[in-house]
Amino acid sequence: MYPPEFDYERADSVDHALELMDEHAGEEIELLAGGHSLLPTMKSGLASPDVLIDIGHIEALQGVETNGDGFSIGALANYADVDDSPEVWEGATAFADATHRIGDVQVRNRGTVGGNIAHADPASDLGGALLASNGTVVAQGPDGEREIPADDFYLGMYATALEPEELLTRIELPETGENDVGAYAKKPSPSSGYPIVGVAAVLHTDGEEIESARVGANNIMDHGVRLTPTEEALAGEPLEEETMEEAAEVATDELDDVMMMEDLQASAEFRAQLTRVYTKRALLGALDRLESAPPAAAD
Ligand SMILES: Cc1cc2nc3c(=O)[nH]c(=O)nc-3n(C[C@H](O)[C@H](O)[C@H](O)COP(=O)(O)OP(=O)(O)OC[C@H]3O[C@@H](n4cnc5c(N)ncnc54)[C@H](O)[C@@H]3O)c2cc1C
Repeated sequence: MYPPEFDYERADSVDHALELMDEHAGEEIELLAGGHSLLPTMKSGLASPDVLIDIGHIEALQGVETNGDGFSIGALANYADVDDSPEVWEGATAFADATHRIGDVQVRNRGTVGGNIAHADPASDLGGALLASNGTVVAQGPDGEREIPADDFYLGMYATALEPEELLTRIELPETGENDVGAYAKKPSPSSGYPIVGVAAVLHTDGEEIESARVGANNIMDHGVRLTPTEEALAGEPLEEETMEEAAEVATDELDDVMMMEDLQASAEFRAQLTRVYTKRALLGALDRLESAPPAAAD
């Protein structure tokens, strides 16, 4: 299917993109990053923007950088950029693991981290990973830059805390400590590769006990959520398989059954069961990695 006609503008810099967004204020605007979600939505008639602002060539939004405390992932970094970074695998393992498991090689070479997070598809692999990694979304708008903690970013299905006049410029991820570890486990849809359920876990440990944990899941509610009963069940417990299994059992205890995602691939009840199973896999995956330090890349 062909999308309806639209205007095309190409931005050369972040300031230029913001100028173009201001110029077209009041019209339906979409930003073109990797185009891997936007173009299918336009072709299927679900989005019909008046204007596409192509941000895909803005140099300042590219790449992955290591700073003193963690990582700065440019909005236009693609998944392969993250997956290819040994530093991110070492210091933000759950996030690297999630990017590694997105789609196929073409999608990983083309789709962007910023586009994925701004799009806020409930099935995005990065929803749970951003929450578990305690990431921060950095946005630039007419009034300057602002930081949005992951916990405040996702508001609902395809809905985020980004304002219409703001551009997501980068993601900041803190670097985990030497006894910390993370992993992502996903039940991929056999047809699309998107997760039916995905769970990311980051364990902060002293080498023997879990001091604290962050566990995030995607595609179980209308946006990425933290599994707080599991986080609470892990805190202060020994790094043992039994700890992980027990903590996974309570993963869905505080989720509202009525709001649980339900589609042709999984009923709400099956999805809740998958969530407990994939929480266990993520936790056991993290434990495995800790026992075979340094963190190993996924197969
Ligand atoms: C065959 C296929 C398989 C896929 N499998 C998976 C999968 O397994 N897991 C998964 O998570 N995803 C999957 N995807 C989706 C893919 O990851 C997309 O790349 C991603 O969802 C959107 O990123 P993009 O760069 O392509 O954004 P685009 O499609 O260019 O844009 C998406 C939306 O985000 C907005 N946007 C883009 N960049 C910014 C920005 N910097 N600031 C503000 N708004 C912005 C746009 O306006 C648009 O509304 C798949 C896609 C395809 C085609």
